[in-house]
Amino acid sequence: MMQDHVAPLRLRLDGDALVANWRWLAGRSGSAACGAAIKANGYGLGARGVMARLTRAGCRDFFVSNWGEAAALEPSLEPGVNLSVLHGVRREDMAQALASRARPVLCTPEQIARWGEAGGGACDVMIDTGMNRLGLDWRSDFAPQLQGLDIRTLMSHLASADEDVDLNRLQRDRFASIRDAVPAQRYSLANSAGICRGDAYHFDLTRPGLALYGGVPVDEAADHIRPVVTPQAQILQRRRLIAGDSIGYNATFTATRDHEVAILNLGYADGYLLGFSGRGAAMAGATRLPVLGRVSMDLVAVDVNDAPDLAEGDWLDIAYDLREASAASGLSQYELLTGLGPRYDRVWA
Ligand SMILES: *Cc1c(COP(=O)(O)O)cnc(C)c1O
Repeated sequence: MMQDHVAPLRLRLDGDALVANWRWLAGRSGSAACGAAIKANGYGLGARGVMARLTRAGCRDFFVSNWGEAAALEPSLEPGVNLSVLHGVRREDMAQALASRARPVLCTPEQIARWGEAGGGACDVMIDTGMNRLGLDWRSDFAPQLQGLDIRTLMSHLASADEDVDLNRLQRDRFASIRDAVPAQRYSLANSAGICRGDAYHFDLTRPGLALYGGVPVDEAADHIRPVVTPQAQILQRRRLIAGDSIGYNATFTATRDHEVAILNLGYADGYLLGFSGRGAAMAGATRLPVLGRVSMDLVAVDVNDAPDLAEGDWLDIAYDLREASAASGLSQYELLTGLGPRYDRVWA
């Protein structure tokens, strides 16, 4: 969405790639329905834009973390589309939750009691099968507590789906036993990586996040998942370094020859964190323009000696292949996406 004010940095978002990624994940989910995790503002892309495009493509199940996120999305929730709030309901959330079309994913005995006493109606439930994060302990006697609840989706979450380890099979088997013991409309276990583990992990509904947005959760997905996000930053100044000049905070780069640099409007406050210092790059077509020196809060310098035509006011793509950028910066693919802050214009193509 373009505002009157044009920011000096933007995210180019490829809506076709987003939808293609969802379709691939839906295909890999077999007979299970494929939802979408859009918490953390759609992993940094903008949750409303993501939800609108995936709803149009046929997605009917969305997941956010908390009720602030749900409130922002509810006005644009189409009829027949489900929105689940993964962190359940705190006391502070009850008034909103009772009036909302979104459903809480009840995680604790306290939440279940609170929801039941308030006559809350349809809900989801999270069972912890071994991650020991949110959810009712799979070893506890939870079935009696759940009696009488209108459970739409009973879910659990895999701790290590991106690795081939025994814990995946253990969690799946525990979840399958729970499915046989607790009535619910649907059962859901797999995130992006879990979808790639195969049919035994799909149950009725899958919940990808990362891979929708171009993240590659396991190697086999690399040939199928398309990049969605390209950060772009504007050149604010072009300048000449003379051999011996240093650049940026703490002078971590010193020029050994005379050459030209461009100062871009992008910094660690925009999620372009210090790990990219001396390791990231901008792109001018196929030409790589390496980051020189330390990333500042709002600025970064790149070498433009091989790009003589670039001038103040021009825009550059930032190299942001999620796996390569992760290796270069030491940040996870999740951090690379969710750190993309509010200062970018988000422009869907
Ligand atoms: C974030 C989240 C997902 C999506 O996970 P990805 O690894 O991004 O695919 C699915 N389920 C739950 C409970 C989550 O918290």
